[in-house]
Amino acid sequence: MAVKKVALACSVCGSRNYMVTKKPTRTDRLQVKKYCKYCDSHTLHRETM
Ligand SMILES: [Zn+2]
Repeated sequence: MAVKKVALACSVCGSRNYMVTKKPTRTDRLQVKKYCKYCDSHTLHRETM
C-alpha cells in the first residue's frame, strides 16, 4: 500500500520506542538519533520489521 509502519528500536537496549510511517520509495534503512527513556539518553534508533 501507500505507506508502511515501522518501529524504531534503540540500538543499545533494543526496546521499540517509536512508530513511524515510511514511504515505500525509501529503501534505505532508517537510522535516527532519538531519546530512549530506558537508556535515559539519546541513542541511535534503527528501523525494525
Ligand atoms: Zn535504549
